[in-house]
Amino acid sequence: METGGIRSCQSCGMPMSAEEHFGTEADGTLSKDYCANCYQSGAFVEPGITIDEMAEKCSAILSQLFCIPAANAERFAREQMSCLKRWTGREIPACGSCGMPLARDEDAGTEADGSLSTNYCTYCYRDGRFVEPGLTREQAVEQYAPMMASNLGMPLDRAKEMVRQYLSTLPRWRE
Ligand SMILES: [Zn+2]
Ligand SMILES: [Zn+2]
Repeated sequence: METGGIRSCQSCGMPMSAEEHFGTEADGTLSKDYCANCYQSGAFVEPGITIDEMAEKCSAILSQLFCIPAANAERFAREQMSCLKRWTGREIPACGSCGMPLARDEDAGTEADGSLSTNYCTYCYRDGRFVEPGLTREQAVEQYAPMMASNLGMPLDRAKEMVRQYLSTLPRWRE
């Protein structure tokens, strides 16, 4: 079945790439928005869970996987979740190049005709073009990982791993 490429679960934020990562609707089709841990047969697995409880749960996993201090992992998970459809009622689009949420008009890049881009942020995309058109995914990892490492207080090699995994969910870097 066509899963529409890799995307992030709109409940927990985890990347979904393989078919088995996707949750299921009541009719057995794959959910477009939610992962198998969060959503099965058209309903949330834990319907009463709050955004704080979900952030706590996911930050424990992040903290363990990527050696992020617990408090930083929780802050990060909470930030990620505040852009997801389950918690906001709408999906806030993320920049397809760096993943920054396009929450406000001034965050959006611009098309050649001056209109706002709905796909990319102002740091990545201006006047209908990428600011760094030749950037490869690996170069992007090298560029973003040190910021991530210092922001979250994690080892650089784990930050690279995390950024690499995250970038693979974004349209610009999908193979
Ligand atoms: Zn999920
Ligand atoms: Zn961007």
